[in-house]
Amino acid sequence: MKAPAFDYVKPKSLNEALGYLKQYGSGAQVLAGGQSLMAIMNLGLAMPEVLIDITGLPGLTDITVTDEGVRVGALVTHATLQHSPVIAKHVPLLWQCVPHVAHLAIRNAGTLGGSIALADPAAEYPAVVLALQATITLQGPHGVRDVAADDYFLGLYETARAEDELLVAVTFPKVKDSEVMVFDELTRRRGDYALCGLAAAFDVSGGVIRAARLAYLSMGDTPVLAPTAAAALMGKAPSEETIAAAEIALINDLSPRSDLHGSVNGKLHWAKVLFGRSVRQLGKSA
Ligand SMILES: Cc1cc2nc3c(=O)[nH]c(=O)nc-3n(C[C@H](O)[C@H](O)[C@H](O)COP(=O)(O)OP(=O)(O)OC[C@H]3O[C@@H](n4cnc5c(N)ncnc54)[C@H](O)[C@@H]3O)c2cc1C
Repeated sequence: MKAPAFDYVKPKSLNEALGYLKQYGSGAQVLAGGQSLMAIMNLGLAMPEVLIDITGLPGLTDITVTDEGVRVGALVTHATLQHSPVIAKHVPLLWQCVPHVAHLAIRNAGTLGGSIALADPAAEYPAVVLALQATITLQGPHGVRDVAADDYFLGLYETARAEDELLVAVTFPKVKDSEVMVFDELTRRRGDYALCGLAAAFDVSGGVIRAARLAYLSMGDTPVLAPTAAAALMGKAPSEETIAAAEIALINDLSPRSDLHGSVNGKLHWAKVLFGRSVRQLGKSA
C-alpha cells in the first residue's frame, strides 16, 4: 500500500521542531530513521497530516559519558551503537542486543530514540532500558524532564511522552565490575522481531547472585519485569537447583496472551528457556 499524502517540514533547531509539534498536535508524526514509521504509514495504520523530519538536528547524535552514566542522543542509530566502544564498555547489555535489531540496512537508519518513542513490546531497546533502569529525557514547550524507565512504558505503544514532547536522549547507568549482563532472544529467522527475549542485569559477588533485574520482550503490551523470579535468585549460587526453583516463581510474573506466534504455554516455556540460559551464563563468567 501507499501512504496517503502528507506535508513535510524539516526544522533546523530543536525549538523549531517543538514549535511544529505544538502547532500540529496529533496531526504530526516525528520522522527519525523512518524504519517503523514508513511501514506503519504504508499499511494505513498512521495517517499524519505532517511529518516533522528531525534528522540533522544538532545535539541528538552524541554519545556522552557523564558521572551519571552514558547519555545517548535520540538520533544515534542502531549501527552507531553496535560499533561504539563506549557502549561496548559501559553499557554492554545495550551493545549485546543491537545485532538482534532487524537487519543491517535498517540498523543503518533506525534510531534509539525512534525505538523508545514507538515502544513496540517486541523491540529490544525498551526491555534493555527497563532492565537497566535508564532515564528517558523528554523536551517540550515547558522545558526538559527526565522520566524513569519504570514510569515510561504505560501500555501498548503508549508511553509517558506527551504529544508535544520530543524524546531527546536516554541515559544508561554505567556497568559495575560486579555486574553481568545477558541479552538473549528467540526468533524464527535472524533479524525478525523476537518471539520472546530477555534483557537481564545481574549483580554477582562471591559466586552468589546479589541482585537481578529481568525484563522480557514480546511477553505483553509493554516490556515486562520478572521481580518474583529475580527475588528467587537472591543470595543463591547460579546452580540448576536455583534455576528450577526460580522458574516456578517466573510463572507468577508473566501473563502472555496466545496469538499466531504461540500459545500461552509455549510462550512461558520460551521465557523459562531464556531465563535458564541467562542464569547459566553467570556460572560461566564466575
Ligand atoms: C523489516 C523490519 C524489521 C525490524 N525488526 C526490528 C527488530 O527486530 N527489533 C526492533 O527493535 N526493531 C525492528 N524494526 C524497527 C526498527 O528498529 C526501527 O528503526 C525503530 O523501531 C524505530 O526507529 P526509527 O528511528 O526508524 O523511528 P521512526 O520510524 O522514524 O519513528 C518511529 C515512531 O517514533 C516516533 N519518533 C521517532 N523519533 C522520535 C523522537 N526523537 N521523539 C519523539 N518521537 C519520535 C515517530 O513519530 C514514530 O511514531 C524493524 C523494522 C523493519 C522495517
